[in-house]
Amino acid sequence: MLKLTDVTVRFGAFEALSRVNLEVQEGELVVLLGANGAGKSTLFNTISGLNKPAAGDIEFAGKSVKGNSPDRMVKEGAVQCAEGRKLFSAMSVQQNLKMGGFVHRRKKAQLKDSLEEVYDLFPILHEKRDNAAGSLSGGQQQMLAIGRALMAKPKLMMLDEPSIGLAPLIVEQMFTIIKDINKSGTTVLLAEQNANAALKIADRGYVIENGSVVLEGNSTDLFTNDAIRKAYIGA
Ligand code: ATP
Repeated sequence: MLKLTDVTVRFGAFEALSRVNLEVQEGELVVLLGANGAGKSTLFNTISGLNKPAAGDIEFAGKSVKGNSPDRMVKEGAVQCAEGRKLFSAMSVQQNLKMGGFVHRRKKAQLKDSLEEVYDLFPILHEKRDNAAGSLSGGQQQMLAIGRALMAKPKLMMLDEPSIGLAPLIVEQMFTIIKDINKSGTTVLLAEQNANAALKIADRGYVIENGSVVLEGNSTDLFTNDAIRKAYIGA
């Protein structure tokens, strides 16, 4: 579904991504592990069309999408749920969700169906549908951000550090929900520093350091890899 070939991204003289090769097959849940500043967000923003690669190619759903605008990428089905949630905090929960459905100019009935699907997945959002997004707890805001991304009916959902700042119990719930979203047919690319939780739900993973992929493998192999355990799991 997604294939990056030798993707390089520069900000001025600084090379933020160096010849990155990465693939995600349809139906997979793939995790991207890396410390702060490794290049995870840059990679997502490049797939989303916000950053333009200096070199390399990006294929999505069978065609090159290099140079596509961000709104084109959302229409194609590559939807990013950004780190830090980036909600419209003064708007209600329901208004935030509706914003996520805008891209398809769908009929009211379809929008209503999508809303119901999101509310089924996150009953708390239904309960709080008229509350301002900014009044929600951290975990609820993350659910809203994921719900808003789902409203765009993604083929590929890119989740940037969904566990950041959340209590351990909420993190566990969040990862269960992400796995459920994947099981119900959405391909997921997940950027995380929480390797322990992420590798438990992922099929495969990539480790990115200083803008380069340094390791890749299936989740079990990565989970038992000494270097990964030392750097990300702490065992
Ligand atoms: P974090 O979890 O902290 O967001 P990350 O792995 O997502 O980490 P990136 O945000 O992708 O890391 O940043 C990778 C590197 O690129 C960092 O050194 C960052 O300072 C740099 N960088 C990112 N965006 C820009 C930009 N627009 N201009 C210049 N440098 C940038």
